[in-house]
Amino acid sequence: TERRKVYLGTNLKMYKTIGQTLAFLTELAERTRDIPREQLCLFVIPSYLALPAATGAVDQDRIGLGAQNMHWEDSGQFTGEVSPLMLKELGLRLVEIGHSERRQHFRETDCEENLKVLSALRHGFTALLCIGETGQEKELGISDERLRQQLKLGLRGVAEAQADRVWVAYEPVWAIGVQGTPASPEYAGAKHQLIRETLLELFPERGREIPVLYGGSVNPENAAALSRQPAIDGLFIGRAAWEAERFETLIRQV
Ligand code: PEP
Repeated sequence: TERRKVYLGTNLKMYKTIGQTLAFLTELAERTRDIPREQLCLFVIPSYLALPAATGAVDQDRIGLGAQNMHWEDSGQFTGEVSPLMLKELGLRLVEIGHSERRQHFRETDCEENLKVLSALRHGFTALLCIGETGQEKELGISDERLRQQLKLGLRGVAEAQADRVWVAYEPVWAIGVQGTPASPEYAGAKHQLIRETLLELFPERGREIPVLYGGSVNPENAAALSRQPAIDGLFIGRAAWEAERFETLIRQV
């Protein structure tokens, strides 16, 4: 049987200057030169500011580039925001939407994530919708309800025909970052199954094809076990991917 395609990507958050981003991308491209991309979708999501230089520096068929956020309006009186038209002009294909840090620190709601998803899809981007329960929701035993809610609200109004440009990242908030502890492969696998079932409810035709990535304290020690879970299509990585050498080690393990 053919090996399924694995999705591996990193969000650089508010790390790396333009120069550091370029150095990282160049080294990553070099280190992954021999890996065929038929079975690997590799992507990096730098800060807005680094994107123009980044698009000139890498072949996006080898390393896809995405934006960390986007406003849903094409233009307007939204000081400090970035519009889909600006990102489109750069030749980006991917936009990350609803990372837990956006939801936590910038008070983004499911309704706003939905506006962004719809706008991104309308403009031809792939929308990477991030969802995940908080530690409190987990303790209260409402993780499944919350995940279903985030999917149903976040993907509301998405047409079945657009679903081939939807990716989902399952990132339990309690697992993310320095204070986080990774979800066990079993826990993550079970939540991925729930996510798949919900996606199939929303998109009976294409729901099965939507890549669902796990994120939250992925490291070279747990990456292989997580990606072996049948319901996990890939990994969305923070800290453990920000050095090209460490990221390469991880890539070669899954
Ligand atoms: C993230 O914030 O998306 C993430 C997965 O971070 P980390 O891997 O550092 O926990």
